[in-house]
Amino acid sequence: PLPTAPAAAPLCSGARGEAEAAGGDGAMLRHLARKLRASGPVTVAEYMREALTNPGQGYYTRRGGVGESGDFITSPEISQVFGELIGIWYISEWMAMGKPSTFQLVELGPGRGTLTEDILRVFKQLSSVLSKCDVSVHLVEVSPKLSEIQAAMLTGGKVQPNPEDESAYMKGISKTGIPIFWYRDIQDVPAGYSFYLAHEFFDALPIHKFQRTEKGWREVLVDIDPEVPDQLRFVLSPSRTPAAQNFIQPEERRDHVEVCPEAGVIVQRLASRIEKDGGAALVADYGHDGTKTDTFRGFRNHKLHDVLSAPGTADLTADVDFSYLRKMAQGKTATLGPIKQREFLKNMGIDLRLQVLLQNSGDTATREQLLHSYDMLMNPEKMGDCFNFFALLPHHRLVHPDKKDKAESKSPLPPVDGFNELLLK
Ligand code: SAH
Repeated sequence: PLPTAPAAAPLCSGARGEAEAAGGDGAMLRHLARKLRASGPVTVAEYMREALTNPGQGYYTRRGGVGESGDFITSPEISQVFGELIGIWYISEWMAMGKPSTFQLVELGPGRGTLTEDILRVFKQLSSVLSKCDVSVHLVEVSPKLSEIQAAMLTGGKVQPNPEDESAYMKGISKTGIPIFWYRDIQDVPAGYSFYLAHEFFDALPIHKFQRTEKGWREVLVDIDPEVPDQLRFVLSPSRTPAAQNFIQPEERRDHVEVCPEAGVIVQRLASRIEKDGGAALVADYGHDGTKTDTFRGFRNHKLHDVLSAPGTADLTADVDFSYLRKMAQGKTATLGPIKQREFLKNMGIDLRLQVLLQNSGDTATREQLLHSYDMLMNPEKMGDCFNFFALLPHHRLVHPDKKDKAESKSPLPPVDGFNELLLK
């Protein structure tokens, strides 16, 4: 069991942090240690927010981490096919919704910008279909370092910081001629018909952790170890915290629960915006449907990393609770999924796309690379099963034609690409 703050007893050796990080300068740890000594333990959410997005020392702010040379690799970094199929998903939804004359592509946490790049390539290839549509790209990114990498990737570096006429902190034009804007918060993105995308974004948002005890639910907190200088440890709150009061359902059966209120707020915003202005949201991440317990973990150099060790030098992440996201959409939109990544990509035609690419590639090395990346994305033991797709769609998009006005039911609603098998079940 965890010690109760402020009494001292360690959780277990595996969960303790070291004083100094290999490769890190320990500035974040010193900052946190000062804070903890001065004002006592903090919630895991507060710890995670500091470690990841502190403006000076945060992991994303300073390191960025995504990609082969970074700390973790993501699907768009593995294969261009991933982003291409997502680009096709948006075009297919745009067509199914009657080809509105304008749409915004809004990506949350775009990393290196690779996914947007692949999507924009598809938009370019299908420019005859999109020719009458006014498309713009809106990236929500807190990390100055990553927004710079995105700008280089998408615009060749030709960007204007702090445009006076916009709520954006940076703007530019994509290599394919589409205007791109950067924001720190989804609320700054202008209203309007929008397709939202969040790939490995929600798992990076701060979670609260709760533990069932004999005295009821207690929140897990991060504290400084009184016996070892500059070493962090987990403790339990001495009484019920406001977060425990608000986030634990009376019918909860698990003994350990993680909740990400920030994800809830963002999904509420997405759902309200889609209900009001139209569009759709596609969320892809690893996660569960309200069943898992302790999923908080760290990654550095592609290896698991103690979450309390050397904060700011490793990516911290927790599985996304899709049942919570569905609940937070509050019925403002319909929801689809979660569906496994390998099913979604299969439904989107990844096998055919692979065949075409294989036929078009002359050399063995490229063919091997194509097969290898397909395996990474699709193999149930690799990314195929643990990653999920989840969508928010306007209710009218899913209403069966029979239930609508009989006069218009001649042309049935096209199925939602990627999720069709789910809808047929
Ligand atoms: N989607 C990318 C990157 C995932 S990493 C990919 O799949 O490769 C998470 C991304 O979210 C990074 O770009 C990080 O800087 C950004 N991020 C993390 N917390 C954020 C927040 N609170 N607001 C906006 N962006 C955030």
